[in-house]
Amino acid sequence: MKKLKLIGPISQVLTLDHLPLKGALKDDQLELIEQAGILIEEEKIFQVGKWENLTKQFPEAEIFELKGDYVAMPGMVDCHTHICFGGSRAKDFAMRNAGKTYLEIAQSGGGIWETVTQTRKLSQVDLAKITANHANRHLSEGVTTIEVKSGYGLSVEEELKMLRAIQEAKSLTSADLIPTCLAAHMKPKDFSGTNPEYLEMISTELFPILNKENLTQRIDAFVEKSAFSPDEIKPYFQKAKEMSFDLTVHADQFTVGGSKVALESGALSADHLEASGDEEIRNLAQSNTLAVALPGASIGLGCSFTPARKVLDQGGALAIASDWNPGSAPMGDLLAQASILATFEKLSTAEVLAGITFRAAAALGLADRGKLTQGQLADFILFPTKDYREILYHQGKMKPMEVWKSGSKEVRKTGGMDALKSGVR
Ligand SMILES: [Zn+2]
Repeated sequence: MKKLKLIGPISQVLTLDHLPLKGALKDDQLELIEQAGILIEEEKIFQVGKWENLTKQFPEAEIFELKGDYVAMPGMVDCHTHICFGGSRAKDFAMRNAGKTYLEIAQSGGGIWETVTQTRKLSQVDLAKITANHANRHLSEGVTTIEVKSGYGLSVEEELKMLRAIQEAKSLTSADLIPTCLAAHMKPKDFSGTNPEYLEMISTELFPILNKENLTQRIDAFVEKSAFSPDEIKPYFQKAKEMSFDLTVHADQFTVGGSKVALESGALSADHLEASGDEEIRNLAQSNTLAVALPGASIGLGCSFTPARKVLDQGGALAIASDWNPGSAPMGDLLAQASILATFEKLSTAEVLAGITFRAAAALGLADRGKLTQGQLADFILFPTKDYREILYHQGKMKPMEVWKSGSKEVRKTGGMDALKSGVR
């Protein structure tokens, strides 16, 4: 028998066991174990049960005793972020709120290209540190798995720098980082050819290196009028599929078209969907592609939210992610954003918690996390309350007191505003 750790007693453990991947959920479907303990063996959950029983059954376990009231739930999974970047877009934010248009902001040197310029100026080492700083802030707030996109390099060399920086950041954080190549974010201003020529260059020159260096298993694309059309992305995705990459799409954010590409290409997820109509939502709900709502982008841009209620009522699988990025979603607070989405879209607590745990893990193709059941990774967080409903009620202000990642208790590295003050944001 390997070494066991037993954490408790815990007022309520939300295991999220027995919940389906798809469809609407009611709060009475939530499995709540009261006066419970979590028994872990190495990096995995061994058993979750009544504290009294576990202490008797496993007297050899090392006890991590808790004083006071706590609610435990699985560590959060953020399945869509852009936390590897240089610079700030505070100027864009102020201009947008002052009524300037997208075009006016771009003409004054703002937009994605500004972040590309700032990111290209940084070394791989500095970029790795910034990424890890963001990841550690997320981890201290209970996010134990974080997807991270490239997409501010936009050349073979600069995209490689970003993806290598994300790899390097893995050694600077205990959070699991899942890299995604978003070279198809926009056609770079310094590329003289057409959109299809740019995509052709990326797929023939960059994709083989991604495979060879094992830098990512995932390819993303921004399908939008201002970026790439569905017809331009289809052959790009075809190539990615032939090379065994998983696909995900920035879809239907301002205009529709992207979610259809996601379904036709068998993408793991279609993210954004603020502009999706009833037909898009119905087709998505009937597919195996997850819908990912990004309330942080709606809050950052002052746009409508993803029709999350409709996705669930039609039987679809809904994940919620932060979209943390310097332009449209600078907040980077998954719990706050998910709580706000819940009030606007009328989502049950069960639907929100599923959307930031096992359903988000499924959007990344991960089945080993997101529930507190035997064999799952021992990623869990403890909130200082005795009622699980308080977690969303405080709209993100209540943070977990303890974060456990792969069976180890995390020590706060950069908490709260430290990452902002460090000057490398
Ligand atoms: Zn995004």
